[in-house]
Amino acid sequence: MSDSDGKKTLGLRGSRPGQVKQSFSHGRTKSVVVETKRKRVVVPKPGAAKPSAKTAGQSSPATDPKNRPAGISDAELDRRMKALAAANAREAEEAEKRAADEKARAEDRDRRRAEAEAKEREEREREEKAKAKAEDEARREREAEEAKARAAEPAPAPAEPGPVAAAPRGGAPKPSTPVRRDRDDRDNRKAKPTRDDGGRRAGKLTLNQALSGGEGGRQKSLAAMKRKQERARQKAMGGNVEREKVTRTVQLPEAITVGELANRMSERVADVVKSLMTSGIMATQNQSIDADTAELIIEEFGHKVQRVSDADVEDVIQKVVDDEKDLKPRPPVITVMGHVDHGKTSLLDAIRNAKVVSGEAGGITQHIGAYQVDQGGTKLTFLDTPGHAAFTSMRARGAQVTDIVVLVVAADDAVMPQTIEAINHAKAANVPMIVAINKIDRPEANPDKVRTDLLQHEVVVEKMSGEVQDVEVSAIKGTGLDELLEAISLQSEILELHANPDRAATGAVIEAQLDVGRGPVATVLVQTGTLRQGDIFVVGEQWGRVRAMENDHGERVKEAGPSVPVEVLGLNGTPEAGDVLNVVETEAQAREIAEYREKAAKDKRAAAGAATTLEQLMANAKADENVSELPILVKADVQGSAEAIVQAMEKIGNDEVRVRVLHSGVGAITESDIGLAEASGAPVFGFNVRANASARNSANQKGVEIRYYSVIYDLVDDVKAAASGLLSAEVRENFIGYAQIKEVFKVSGVGKVAGCLVTEGVARRSAGVRLLRDDVVIHEGTLKTLKRFKDEVPEVQSGQECGMAFENYDDIRPNDVIEIFEREEVERSLS
Ligand code: GDP
Repeated sequence: MSDSDGKKTLGLRGSRPGQVKQSFSHGRTKSVVVETKRKRVVVPKPGAAKPSAKTAGQSSPATDPKNRPAGISDAELDRRMKALAAANAREAEEAEKRAADEKARAEDRDRRRAEAEAKEREEREREEKAKAKAEDEARREREAEEAKARAAEPAPAPAEPGPVAAAPRGGAPKPSTPVRRDRDDRDNRKAKPTRDDGGRRAGKLTLNQALSGGEGGRQKSLAAMKRKQERARQKAMGGNVEREKVTRTVQLPEAITVGELANRMSERVADVVKSLMTSGIMATQNQSIDADTAELIIEEFGHKVQRVSDADVEDVIQKVVDDEKDLKPRPPVITVMGHVDHGKTSLLDAIRNAKVVSGEAGGITQHIGAYQVDQGGTKLTFLDTPGHAAFTSMRARGAQVTDIVVLVVAADDAVMPQTIEAINHAKAANVPMIVAINKIDRPEANPDKVRTDLLQHEVVVEKMSGEVQDVEVSAIKGTGLDELLEAISLQSEILELHANPDRAATGAVIEAQLDVGRGPVATVLVQTGTLRQGDIFVVGEQWGRVRAMENDHGERVKEAGPSVPVEVLGLNGTPEAGDVLNVVETEAQAREIAEYREKAAKDKRAAAGAATTLEQLMANAKADENVSELPILVKADVQGSAEAIVQAMEKIGNDEVRVRVLHSGVGAITESDIGLAEASGAPVFGFNVRANASARNSANQKGVEIRYYSVIYDLVDDVKAAASGLLSAEVRENFIGYAQIKEVFKVSGVGKVAGCLVTEGVARRSAGVRLLRDDVVIHEGTLKTLKRFKDEVPEVQSGQECGMAFENYDDIRPNDVIEIFEREEVERSLS
């Protein structure tokens, strides 16, 4: 609506119209007429009261004399107007002053608030500093205490992988310390929200704050914010910084998993993985890293490295020396030995059938390679593995299982080679013997002959006023069995056999096999402690967890104490007879040990041959002050030579080393000899005898040295030289071939010619030859002729036939073996 259109505006009567101009965007304007309805004023009418003018509103009613209230003079009006103006001015002045005051007050308020806040902030910082200082001091105190504790204890917990693994992170030996720190942290956290509500967010600049210029105009500088952030970060990292200061000695094996490494350093796995990554190695927690890499990481974290060898894994096996008071009597373990056919098996059967509680219908069934019998309330454990091989193989593996040896000698026979062997085995193992003179039911039995025979082998039985108990028995008739068992009990009492049943079990494998249905099973004789179902164990190169156990009656048992034989199920592989079983705490330990042993055994096999050399034995004997004996085995062609050698050997020796002949005998070197040699770590000397094929193989496998001699003085000189450490140039014989005589021809002018087959290596015309009959050397010399078909040849290869004749020797027979050898001189350095 515009006032220029000439239209009459609609208005209120008696109002005072005014105009207001409104401005809009784009320059548009609009005038609006504003009319104010005048309030009707009722004034007393002293005179003619004129109605209000139509033009009213043009001037203020006060200033317009026409509008002035009736009865007011000009002067009065003027005065009033002036007063009004003054009042107006005063009012404006007052408003101004109020505004100024208000502003000043606001400024003052702001200032004071800022001051207060600054003060508060200062105070807070001071508090924080004090707290940090206190914490620092407390920590230092703590560290000092720890250091003291460590110094006081020579074997600190971090040195052991177990406790470190179990210790809490930052595993301070004092458990109260980390707890206290935690509480402090919690308090801090609790205090925070009230202290700086928004303070937590203050580090973060919100958009609003940035635009509005901060809270209440108080904008923090970026640097301040950064400082605050840095403070917060340091506080968060406070724990880490502290941990890094605790230097640990980390035991480092040749290979370690990342997780275990972190554990041993008491660092977070993630940190270790990160650190590895920066070195360019991507490894997860369960991956193994080598010791060199691990060492770098350990140093990076500021810890100390202590390299440990693989063999230390065996350290977890308890090597507790039992307290006297923990020891309880245990049954003796008996092995029956003797010459073949003298009745070992029959005697074991007789004892079992007579003594085992026979509740089972159809007689006793043999379940495992050992059984227990009851003898007047005490138990006796018999190993049902007759034969010397089992005995020696056990000893060779470090299991001294047998307490008593029962030596079976047939009364109708005499002391035979294996009887002597058994005697020597028992002596070598230092195990007492009881002589069972068997087959006394036989009419031709002559027990006294056995007794006198034994005298020759330094076995003096009681009847001959000696100390060795002797009992006459008949396995077939069952006579004398009680006396034998009584003799065993008596011997056992003398031995005072004890073991601690309340500890982790150790035992020895008597026999083991892979059962189709049940997997690997092993008959174990518990030696100390008690083996229980669920136990984790390592046995030789194998490990396992006892899944089930059966006793000698085939009954399920939950536990087996000392001297109790049980069949154990739950192995991961088949161990060997004689392997030692040890219960360990964790499966990881068991696996680690088994793996280590497997590797060590492989290395040993690779290095076999050097294991039991004479030089090494001598060196060992000298190095180890406790070992002052050099054990040897002697096999000779005739009794006379054997005795001569033994006598010569016994004279050798000085203050440091003495030669001890473990066993001497006549005939070829057998597997049993090798077994005994291995068990005792002895070399075997063959005097004009050879090892048979199986003995040779076994010696190669076990690394037992066999030395052959044909002159006693050579043998004695070698042993002497080795004993004194002075080894002259050695004349070494190399066997270059073997030939078997198939036929013997008589050729006129040449003499006897052997038609042979070269079975091994080569036959060489220029080489030395020996004639062996039953592995015994019966001639040594040179060849007169070596013919292939009709021609004289220098060499004949293995698998070919040839004709051979000896120089100056004619006693050749079919099936004799010709050994072909060459001699070479080897210079030996002083060792
Ligand atoms: P091993 O080789 O030492 O185990 O001997 P054995 O126990 O196999 O016995 C060999 C032979 O001797 C068997 O034929 C037995 O029957 C027999 N035998 C064992 N003990 C006696 C005995 O006390 N008296 C008699 N007459 N024969 C026996």
